[in-house]
Amino acid sequence: MTTAIEALVLQLLTAINAIAGLPLPERPPEVVFVSHSDLEAQACDRPCNVQGWFPPGRVVYLDEGLDPQNDIWGRSILVHELVHYLQQEEGSFTEAGTCEAWMKREAEAYEIQYRWLLAQQVPPRLLRRISRPFLRIGCRA
Ligand SMILES: [Zn+2]
Repeated sequence: MTTAIEALVLQLLTAINAIAGLPLPERPPEVVFVSHSDLEAQACDRPCNVQGWFPPGRVVYLDEGLDPQNDIWGRSILVHELVHYLQQEEGSFTEAGTCEAWMKREAEAYEIQYRWLLAQQVPPRLLRRISRPFLRIGCRA
């Protein structure tokens, strides 16, 4: 039986494939909702505004405050994390964990998230929520 979130994941993987040509995976990742403090503890070493996280493996973590079924912003966060999953499956940008590889992964994920949001005809304020963090991407020395 396919749950609602599994169905949404399949739908979004298909959309990413259509937008950016990333190949569909052999099997989709699992989505697990966690509290914001758990997400911060895993993904950052201090309080941060992280909303989704994909460590190497088969699980995408989302902030339990997100509602990707009903909220378009929450769905776009899932799109972003699914791009990271597809990058892993495709073996792209793997140059030995370099900062440059990380930046390329993030740039692609933000770009696809942006294009997906554009296709949903969202208001410009939502698009600015992508362009702002994207401009801050840089390598920490
Ligand atoms: Zn990312």
